[in-house]
Amino acid sequence: MDKAAPLSISVDNQRCHRYGFCQSEAPDVFQLGEDGRLAYRQSPEVSRNLDVISAARSCPMRAIEIVGKDS
Ligand code: SF4
Repeated sequence: MDKAAPLSISVDNQRCHRYGFCQSEAPDVFQLGEDGRLAYRQSPEVSRNLDVISAARSCPMRAIEIVGKDS
């Protein structure tokens, strides 16, 4: 994956158990709401790529999928 290219994020709500590790890694991209739902930005700035990738790796449920927009 090209870490300098735009990424597209999707979270599998069936897998996500709202642990919040992703929010710890990239709080401006992933946010757990008071209602327990996970909100996230599908197209974060390229400057956030490394933290977004860390967030995906930190997810114990492997619920976060990131793909390069150009791939
Ligand atoms: S780390 Fe994974 S399981 Fe936890 S809130 Fe984020 S996407 Fe959901």
